[in-house]
Amino acid sequence: MVNKMNIVGRRGKSMIYKIDVDICVGCGACATSCPISIIEQKGGKYIINSSGCKGCGVCESTCPVSAISKD
Ligand code: SF4
Ligand code: SF4
Repeated sequence: MVNKMNIVGRRGKSMIYKIDVDICVGCGACATSCPISIIEQKGGKYIINSSGCKGCGVCESTCPVSAISKD
């Protein structure tokens, strides 16, 4: 199911991932791992362009400090 604001999985959970900038250490590993390159550096941290996120979870499994989770 898809709407303009979010992508929702079959169980009703969000499929979009976000980065907690308070935890992020700016290593850039997530940006390198994202298959569609939608993670961008901003002010020494990284952000996910959530409107393009496919919910694959690769970035979450790559982050060394667990700063990435489903929104
Ligand atoms: S969940 Fe996948 S598509 Fe979304 S930002 Fe992470 S690596 Fe990219
Ligand atoms: S992998 Fe984690 S710590 Fe590294 S830039 Fe991405 S969110 Fe930040």
